[in-house]
Amino acid sequence: MKLFIERCRQNGLKVTPQRIAIYNLLRETTGHPSADCIYRKITDTWPTISFDTVNRTLLTFADIGVIAMVESYSLSRRFDSQTENHHHLHCIRCGQIIDFCDSSFDNLRIPDQITGSFTVTGKRMVISGICSDCTE
Ligand SMILES: [Zn+2]
Ligand SMILES: [Zn+2]
Repeated sequence: MKLFIERCRQNGLKVTPQRIAIYNLLRETTGHPSADCIYRKITDTWPTISFDTVNRTLLTFADIGVIAMVESYSLSRRFDSQTENHHHLHCIRCGQIIDFCDSSFDNLRIPDQITGSFTVTGKRMVISGICSDCTE
């Protein structure tokens, strides 16, 4: 939270109670929620907030690097409070995205034909499959 506040101030973003609430909600969920999902939860405590405000706040957070925007397999963007290097399991049935860490994946070499023509800003392994909830 301290880092979040610092990063906001550095970027000239006011730390409002609403922004803190949005950030906290995202941090509390282990999944990778969409703006819509955050919006539905936040209206429990902030009934007057608009979807547009939530969506714009999330995009601003991603812009200043306090959260990450992750690969999405549907039309809605998905967000991640974990900005450190990590990898994802993606359930092709329910769309759930689960975090995992593995140093051998962190150290995977990027092929030369990619680095020659593509500026790499990050790398993440995504393993697709069916989660345990969906297997039952
Ligand atoms: Zn699933
Ligand atoms: Zn993640």
